[in-house]
Amino acid sequence: MSRRRQRFSKPIKRWVILGVIGFAIALYLIFAQLPTFVDKRLNPVLTLPPYSVPAEAAEVHDRLWVADLHADSLLWGRDLSQRHQQGHIDLPRLQTANVALQIFTVVTQVPSNLKLEGNTPDSDDIIKLAVVQGWPLATWHSLLARALHQGQQLHTLAQSQAQFRLIETQSDLQRFIRDRKQQPQLTAGILGLEGAHALEGRLENVERLYQAGFRMLGLAHFFDTEVGGSAHGSQQGGLTPLGRQVVLQAQEKHMLLDLAHSSSQVINEVVALSRQPVVVSHTGVKGTCDNVRNLSDRQIKAIANTGGVIGIGFWPRAVCGDDAQAIAQAIRYVADLVGVDHVSLGSDFDGAVHAPFDVTGLPLLTAALQAEGFSTEEIGKIMGGNTLRVLQAVLPA
Ligand SMILES: [Zn+2]
Repeated sequence: MSRRRQRFSKPIKRWVILGVIGFAIALYLIFAQLPTFVDKRLNPVLTLPPYSVPAEAAEVHDRLWVADLHADSLLWGRDLSQRHQQGHIDLPRLQTANVALQIFTVVTQVPSNLKLEGNTPDSDDIIKLAVVQGWPLATWHSLLARALHQGQQLHTLAQSQAQFRLIETQSDLQRFIRDRKQQPQLTAGILGLEGAHALEGRLENVERLYQAGFRMLGLAHFFDTEVGGSAHGSQQGGLTPLGRQVVLQAQEKHMLLDLAHSSSQVINEVVALSRQPVVVSHTGVKGTCDNVRNLSDRQIKAIANTGGVIGIGFWPRAVCGDDAQAIAQAIRYVADLVGVDHVSLGSDFDGAVHAPFDVTGLPLLTAALQAEGFSTEEIGKIMGGNTLRVLQAVLPA
């Protein structure tokens, strides 16, 4: 009996050890490699850097104050202090691209099998990212916790990197503008929310997000919420009573309101309610690319009437093209319709989109704007001046 057990125990032991090693390797692959793999697959670029830019455009670009209204870079677990091969943005690449200010938006729930219209909040793909990246347990069930966790990543970046600042007030912004004249490598970020479902139906969570440094509040993402309709939702209705309170409270707190992804009715109602400039942080326009996601001429005029800006997105469904020229044409359309003061950049970099280039390709857009006939002064407004004007009008003292 004992001899027989000995005969079997050696191979069994070997299998157990191999099993444990295999399990450890699988765990390592899931937790260390999967986020990078997913990031690479979902945030590709059509053309990899480096990009060749005409000298004249490069020279103009280097003198611009560049600002972008929308990037979802906090979602992927990428260490933004390091230069990466995958994704669209990190601090070294923002510096290479001469970007002064980037608004970092946080995504908290995305339905599976996403459609352009008719989505419901019954499913949730973000939980997978939360688990493989090892986010705090609360983020598994709380959308607010997901927003706060991503926001914390940007605070940590600002605390650890002398060349990166998080802007929350007018005086932060003024100091940053002044210091950047001496230190052109300085880059700043602002926190924004993509979709009011992260408020979890509670008005007091506006204050909670404000305290966590959020300064832009996007009312909708892919489905209708307790606050109001999404352009991709099943009902696509207007503001709810809670939604009206959220809009008023956000304005009282000097948070910028973002109408990207909002239903047509929500856009109309917020524009009518608003006493400050509002933005659409990333969008296309029906005038150059006609689909349900993009703004009509009437909506563009309504946003411009608040003194706000429309951030033109870079991905194919926004501009019906996959190059800087298609982006510049959408910008030209808005400028011709409502004036050059109301159009800006809303890349949606790292927003699970196919981008024509990563952020270091922005000088290609400067070149395309020159080709569209914009003057250097106009290019300055489009590439960042307009966004800066709105922030100076809205951010709290
Ligand atoms: Zn979006």
